[in-house]
Amino acid sequence: MSATIRPLPEILINQIAAGEVVERPASVVKELVENAIDAGATRVDIELEEGGVRLIRIRDNGSGIAAEQLPLAVSRHATSKIASLDDLEAVATLGFRGEALPSIASVSRFTLASRRAQDEHGSALQIEGGKLGEVLPRAHAPGTTVEVRELFYNVPARRKFLRAERTELGHIEEWLRSLALARPDVELRVSHNGKASRRYKPGDLYSDARLGETLGEDFANQAVRVDHSGAGLRLHGWIAQPHYSRASTDQQYLYVNGRSVRDRSVAHAVKMAYGDVLFHGRQPAYVLFLELDPTRVDVNVHPAKHEVRFRDSRLVHDFVYRTLKDALADTRAGMAAHEIGAGVEAQALPQAATPWSSGQPVGGGGGGGYGNWGAQQSPLGLQVADAPAAYAALYAGPAGSQQSLPPMPSERGLPVTSADAGVPPLGYAVAQLHGIYILAENAEGLIVVDMHAAHERIGYERLKHAHDGIGLHAQPLLVPITLAVGEREADTAEREAETLIALGFDVTRAGPGALHVRSIPALLANAEPEGLLRDVLGDLREHGQSRRVATARDELLSTMACHGAVRANRRLTVPEMNALLRDMEITERSGQCNHGRPTWARFSLAEIDRWFLRGR
Ligand code: ADP
Ligand code: MG
Repeated sequence: MSATIRPLPEILINQIAAGEVVERPASVVKELVENAIDAGATRVDIELEEGGVRLIRIRDNGSGIAAEQLPLAVSRHATSKIASLDDLEAVATLGFRGEALPSIASVSRFTLASRRAQDEHGSALQIEGGKLGEVLPRAHAPGTTVEVRELFYNVPARRKFLRAERTELGHIEEWLRSLALARPDVELRVSHNGKASRRYKPGDLYSDARLGETLGEDFANQAVRVDHSGAGLRLHGWIAQPHYSRASTDQQYLYVNGRSVRDRSVAHAVKMAYGDVLFHGRQPAYVLFLELDPTRVDVNVHPAKHEVRFRDSRLVHDFVYRTLKDALADTRAGMAAHEIGAGVEAQALPQAATPWSSGQPVGGGGGGGYGNWGAQQSPLGLQVADAPAAYAALYAGPAGSQQSLPPMPSERGLPVTSADAGVPPLGYAVAQLHGIYILAENAEGLIVVDMHAAHERIGYERLKHAHDGIGLHAQPLLVPITLAVGEREADTAEREAETLIALGFDVTRAGPGALHVRSIPALLANAEPEGLLRDVLGDLREHGQSRRVATARDELLSTMACHGAVRANRRLTVPEMNALLRDMEITERSGQCNHGRPTWARFSLAEIDRWFLRGR
């Protein structure tokens, strides 16, 4: 077939570009607000009608555009933000492709009005059906207004895909929320159908209440501050404590150099970091800002700029994983949220987040306000006697699997209470409830501990420590296995031979798609090493590293710890219970059991007073 080749008309080119850039009203809001921010605006007004389908009007107080530049602003591939390839490789603005305005203008009734501070008056330009009008004078305060009416009026196929007003508004609000988190310095005002609907007041990233405003007080109250730099990277923001987990990934915000993006590799690193503290099937919640030299990240990989590509994604993955793993290791029982981040240069939480209470074991609804728990009453202070003996008794427990638990350290500076000695965070045991829970009194009120869950985590952490010391021994196979794999897996195995050795796998190539396996990790010899090796190779190919062996090892240790932990219905003496409480306070991740369930809860006196309607 011989077809005639001819250039596409300008309007059609723009409409094709709009297909990628303008998916729905929220994408228009995104592009326009990003332009406002690039123009240095400190206040942006967003007026919407009918979910943005009928009208999107965005006014900013940014630098404005000169009258004679208005036609350029709406022409394709015209931008003031980059001028060379070097600029592209180090983009610091949100926009740079020069295609948002012409794309939007080609699928709507469009008006651009602007004035620079130094100009006498403003000017405006209208575009309809891709046809440029004349630049006319127009009264305008310094800054820019873009008006987009009847989105997709001339593209019925796209219009059909628009959802109900509520849904489209929801998408816009969700995007604004993610912007508001990253740019607390910019004031945002939103109105819908003539009614003011949202206002983000300006403030600082870590000193205002934006976290609570955007993600809710529940998140803000328990979030742990993270801030860590190294290898030219900085990761800061908030991560949710494991007990505050979500059914979906709806509270995962990642920003790379201020740009909200999705990144599978970073998401993977975060998930790994939450590894053995998250309840099965739950998703972590976080707001994380990753900062690095712009030349180390390529932002030009997605038309709507939703994704980036790191020049060294392995390093980034590793950095994120380690930073968050360390932060989460600090989630010890008895600690308040603002104390937890201490290991990672934490600062105080935003005001909205204090006073903190975690009486509510599983985040989210239910339970209702576990309010302030300021210390008001002097604690009783039980005497702790003969602690080392108590440990021994505790760990001598039921016969059987105990050998797997390393012995308890004999001395551990246990606090001996005197009248003025501080009461430890988890307080002193007063009773055991139904052989399941320990009740303890601390300075603020009542502590309830799930004895088995807590003991299990302590045993697990100790086993991990012990095994970290000796590393992953390789167990040679009497008869080497030949493993059929894909060619890419075989390439990976060859390239990563040293990594594999460190994991206990001695693997050599035996053909284009075949491997010889001479040794496997000793601890996992009874697991299914072939499947494990395949998964490891898959990870190494995709993420440059694999935690599978460590995860498999941890699962095994976790099972061992579970069997070694005190069973329900075992009577503990008060010194035994106190020994367990003190151990929880010093054990990493002791706030959750090995399966991610909380190990303890607290009820302040104020809270208990409320049960009895006291002090009203
Ligand atoms: P890009 O943002 O990729 O440069 P756009 O099509 O979004 O491309 O915008 C084209 C140009 O118009 C920008 O480079 C900028 O110079 C100008 N512009 C757009 N919106 C604004 C605004 N709100 N304030 C000032 N200048 C703007
Ligand atoms: Mg732009």
